[in-house]
Amino acid sequence: MEGYKQKPAFLQGGKPVLLQGAMELEIAQLRGALTGCRSFQYGTFLFWEGKLGDQPVVLSRTGIGAAAAAAATAVGCAVFQPSLVLNQGTAGGYPEDLHPFDLVVGERWFNANALFQSRYGKDYYLDLEALEGESKESGFTGERPFYHRCSEAAVRWLDQMTGKYTQGQVLLGTIASADRWNDCPDTIRQLETATGALCEEMETAAAGETAARFGVPFGAVRVISNNNRTGEPFNPETARAVQEWIVGIVKKEEREW
Ligand code: SAH
Repeated sequence: MEGYKQKPAFLQGGKPVLLQGAMELEIAQLRGALTGCRSFQYGTFLFWEGKLGDQPVVLSRTGIGAAAAAAATAVGCAVFQPSLVLNQGTAGGYPEDLHPFDLVVGERWFNANALFQSRYGKDYYLDLEALEGESKESGFTGERPFYHRCSEAAVRWLDQMTGKYTQGQVLLGTIASADRWNDCPDTIRQLETATGALCEEMETAAAGETAARFGVPFGAVRVISNNNRTGEPFNPETARAVQEWIVGIVKKEEREW
């Protein structure tokens, strides 16, 4: 991909970047790195406003799953008016050669919760956006998921920074997102073949859809924390690795570009 000669627009102009993580272990390092940190609470949704280097940041602990992530993203966009929403955290790897500590930079995501079952019992993917307007089955169902692209500028920025990640390999690709945890190797293999996804998690689709509804650019990055196809269990240390990388790439100073 083309390199940046200067900081991307969303890291200029003084607006904050909204950094999201679902669980405490997925935001603790980011919070520890913030300077001038002030906290805000809406319901049970926690936000911390501060800086990473010169960059204004709002950190959000979204909670787990689509409903919580969508609500936290809506509050975050409405209250803090971010220039970018960057959702990050842990994920289960799909290919057998993706292991804990490897990174997936999301080029695109899909909502794996959105399913249509035909009267003959076959499941199809559902395009929720089209469903708001269409009434013909053919217009809102498909054999393949309905993919949504992450902001191109965010993908380019993250991709350019992957050289700074030293704890595993980095892949660009598709993130499957649903309120679901798959532990069955056969299911994971079938899902990989059917969708091309590199990993599964529970927040990206909800955050991405909500950011789009607010007109805010969206990026997603996930660290592989488990691979249930190969039997590698959830490793919480992986959450630290991706956060440390994000701190480094957001802090990067103007003269380093
Ligand atoms: N507390 C659990 C792990 C978290 S569960 C444990 O100790 O095992 C779910 C969270 O982790 C969600 O926020 C989701 O985004 C992420 N996640 C990590 N691996 C996942 C997987 N294989 N499937 C779905 N979500 C996963």
